[in-house]
Amino acid sequence: MPYPQLQLCIGGEWRSRPGRPVLNPLDDSVLGELPHATPDDLADALDAAIAGGRAWRRTAPARRAEVMRRAAALLRERADAIAEAVTLEQGKPRAEARVEVQRAADIIDWDAEEGRRAYGRVIPAEPGMRHIVLREPIGLVAGFAPWNFPVSSPTRKVAGALAAGCPIILKASEETPAGAQFLVQAFLDAGLPAGALSLVFGVPGEISEYLIPRPEVRLVTFTGSVPVGKKLSALAGAHMKPVIMELGGHAPVIVCGDADPEAAAAMSALVKSRNAGQVCVSPTRFFVEDAVHDRFAARFGEAARQLRIGNGLHPAVAMGPLANHRRVEAMERLVADAVARGARVLAGGERQGNRGCLFPLTVLADVPEDALAMREEPFGPLALISRTRGIEEAIARANALPYGLAAYAFTQSAPNVDRLAEEVECGNLSINHLVASVPETPFGGVKDSGYGREGGSEGLACYTVTKNVSHRVA
Ligand code: NAD
Repeated sequence: MPYPQLQLCIGGEWRSRPGRPVLNPLDDSVLGELPHATPDDLADALDAAIAGGRAWRRTAPARRAEVMRRAAALLRERADAIAEAVTLEQGKPRAEARVEVQRAADIIDWDAEEGRRAYGRVIPAEPGMRHIVLREPIGLVAGFAPWNFPVSSPTRKVAGALAAGCPIILKASEETPAGAQFLVQAFLDAGLPAGALSLVFGVPGEISEYLIPRPEVRLVTFTGSVPVGKKLSALAGAHMKPVIMELGGHAPVIVCGDADPEAAAAMSALVKSRNAGQVCVSPTRFFVEDAVHDRFAARFGEAARQLRIGNGLHPAVAMGPLANHRRVEAMERLVADAVARGARVLAGGERQGNRGCLFPLTVLADVPEDALAMREEPFGPLALISRTRGIEEAIARANALPYGLAAYAFTQSAPNVDRLAEEVECGNLSINHLVASVPETPFGGVKDSGYGREGGSEGLACYTVTKNVSHRVA
C-alpha cells in the first residue's frame, strides 16, 4: 500500500500546497511532501468552522453520535492501510499501529455516546422561579496534536470536540501527518458537515500564533512538551482562552518488596518497549525495594536483550525505530551522562546502524538520582532502575520531579494501595498493571504535566460551558 498524498483539508475541501518532506525514520527516505497552510488557508478554515460548527451544533445529539460511530466504523474498516502509513511515518510496528487505530475508534464510539448525556440541572428555587443549568458546546476548538500517536492523539481532540457539539481546527504533527489525514477523511465520509473539522499543517509556532488569539477560537487543546505547553498556555491566557494541556511525564514505577519481581519486570519490559518508549505515560523510573531489586533488574535486562528491533512492517519485529533523530540524540546524551555518573548498562545503550533512528530498549541499573535522565523526560526506550529501602522513600522519590502524569506500582498489600492512592502526585495511578487510561476514564496530569482532562465524562466537560438560566414563571 502506498503512502498517501498529503493535503490540507479546509471546509471539506482537500488542498495541495508546497511544504516540506516527510521522512521514514527507519532509513531517512522521503515518503511524501507535506503541504503548509498559508494565512489565507487558515482564514478560510476559521470561516468554514463558523458555518460548519453552526450546522453541527444544530444537529441532534443522537444524530451526531450516529455520524461519529460511522466514522469509527470506517477507521476500523481502513485499519490496515492506516496502520501501514503510521508505521512508515512514525516507526512503530504495524501490529501496534493497528491497536492504535482500534483505540482511536473506541474513543470515538465512547465519546459519541457520552456526548448524548451532556445533562444540565434544575436547581430547587422559591415558588415561581426556575434555575436551570445548561451545558453548552464551548465553541470552536484549536487542537494541536503530536507525532507519537498520529491517529489516537488527534482523535482525543477531534472526538471530544465533536461529541460536545463543537467544530475543531486540527493542527496535526508535520512529522506524522498521514494518521490525521485518514482520521479527517473518515469523518467526512461519515457525513460530518464540511467545516466542522479542518486539518492544517505548517510551521507550528506560526499556526498557533495565528489561531489562538482569534476571537472565533474558544478553547485550545495541546499535547506535547512542557515548554511548548507553557508557551501556548501563556498565549491563550493573554486572550482569556481556556486550555487543555496534556504535557510530558516521567512515570515512576514503585515495586514493593511483596510484589512478584519477575512478573513485574516482564510486564514492564513489554510496556516500556511500546512505541519505543515515546509515550508520555511510559514507565521510566523504577524504584525497586531492596528485597526484590536484583531479581527484578535481572529479569528486566534479559527481556530487553531478547527484544527484536527493526523494520516495523516485519511481523517478527517488536520495536521499530524512534520517530526522529532528536530522540536518538537525546538517548545517547542521557545514557552517556548516566553511565558517567555510575549507572550499569543491563541492556542496549547504543544506536544501531548509521542510517535511520534505531535505538534498542536500554535498561540501566544503579542510576543515581543526579543523573540527567532521572530528571529530564527521556521520551524514548530508556528504563532506569534504582534500589529503595521501602515505600516511604519510593513515594518521596516518585514525587520529587515537577511532572505528575502517570504513576504505577506493584504490591499485594492493601495498606500500601491506600497509601499510594493518597500520596503519589499524579493524574493516573495504576496498581499491578501498566495501562494508564481507557476511553471511559479521565486522563491528564498535575503539576507541570498539565491540566484539563481527555477521556471520561471529565474530558467531555472540558468542551462545554455551563450557562445558568433563571426564569420567573409567576
Ligand atoms: P518540541 O517541544 O519541539 O515539540 C513538541 C510538540 O509541540 C510537537 O508536536 C511540535 O510540533 C509542537 N509544537 C512545537 N512548538 C509549537 C508551537 N509554537 N505551537 C504549536 N505546536 C508546537 O519537542 P519534540 O522534539 O517534537 O518532542 C519531544 C518532547 O515533546 C518530548 O521530550 C516530550 O516531552 C514531548 N512530547 C510529549 C508528548 C505527549 O504525549 N505528552 C507527545 C510528543 C512529544
